[in-house]
Amino acid sequence: MKRDLRINSSLILLFICLQSSSLAFAETNWLKRQRSLYDQPLSQGDTGLKWIRKSEGRGALVTAREQSPKKQISLQKSLSIRDLDVSIDWTKLRYDGCHDIRKDKDFGAKGASTLQLKSSYHRYSYGANILVFAKRLDIRDQLLIHACLRGLQILKLRYPAVYNDLYKPRGTLSSKQIQTQYKRDIERSKSAKVPWVNINSKVVFIINNSGTESAQSLYLLGPSKKVKLGKIGAVPVYHNSLVITLNVAHLSHRGSQSVYTGMSQRDAFLYYIRDGIVETLVHEGFHCLISRDRHINEQFNVIRGFQSSRGGFGKRGKSIEEAIVCNSSLRFFESEAVKETGLHKQVFDFYRKAMFEKIHIPRVQAMNKESRGQVFKTLQIKVGKTLKETLILKRLYLEK
Ligand SMILES: [Zn+2]
Repeated sequence: MKRDLRINSSLILLFICLQSSSLAFAETNWLKRQRSLYDQPLSQGDTGLKWIRKSEGRGALVTAREQSPKKQISLQKSLSIRDLDVSIDWTKLRYDGCHDIRKDKDFGAKGASTLQLKSSYHRYSYGANILVFAKRLDIRDQLLIHACLRGLQILKLRYPAVYNDLYKPRGTLSSKQIQTQYKRDIERSKSAKVPWVNINSKVVFIINNSGTESAQSLYLLGPSKKVKLGKIGAVPVYHNSLVITLNVAHLSHRGSQSVYTGMSQRDAFLYYIRDGIVETLVHEGFHCLISRDRHINEQFNVIRGFQSSRGGFGKRGKSIEEAIVCNSSLRFFESEAVKETGLHKQVFDFYRKAMFEKIHIPRVQAMNKESRGQVFKTLQIKVGKTLKETLILKRLYLEK
């Protein structure tokens, strides 16, 4: 009996060793590749990010054109985001030169003035509807450009519902496609009519070094045009842009090191562009969703109304939206379907403990009781001690 037990325990030990060494092996492979990219001298004039392309693993999953997304995902279904070997579709990436962002034909004066951007930016296009603007093009900037596109690719392949609803850039739609979206908006609003249609037309990344936060987002309204929708009549339609700004200076220092504690600046940044950025995309995507659908979702409207009554997003009005968005992103990554293949525990713990429990919840609790009561009642949310029971916003579409 005793001997059997000993055999069992040594077998278990062997199994644990094998398991942890194979995990460590997977991790050192990508980390080794990323470190050598980070440390190499940047070849002058390589604006096409070819040096990143060259470093990709041979088995990297690319796009729907080469294999069906379902097949691709099944190939790496047990891996977490960090260990996934996903490439971007290099045939879609184009360097468009460097110019004054205020004069850009797609982003234009409105985007630049809203975000107070003035100088020249390097512009990349990825397909017809995704743009990346980077102020500089050093190693970290270029790695971050690639990471934004890779992050979107991961959402598209692994979490298509999230990608389609939050991000999928749809360019300019035909009236038939607009009608389909109008019907979806009617279903979501549970009313007979919605006043206008918001389309996610473009996704724009801005990579610079301004501000004190790692990432920010803006849902930029495009010009409206009235479109006739059969019996419904003419409805104003806006073709809008999701604009995600990433602060590379912050992300390559404290921004990443606070998530990946105990790591060098270089490694923390490399870890962030591998998996932390995917959480950033989901988080910022939720902010944009609240902007996009506030005209069809009463709760989103209450959040934004509360925000302006408390001095706007930069002031105390930010608390509730920030807590709800953070909670929704965490709950998505914590859900059964995503748990094993999403974020590493370390990343998840940072957002849950250091951000949600330490910053967001105390802020919400510190609010004046009266306004909290009214707002919470309308939003049907409650504050508890755990993630599960706190700030449950039932109608953030992706939350299960
Ligand atoms: Zn936020």
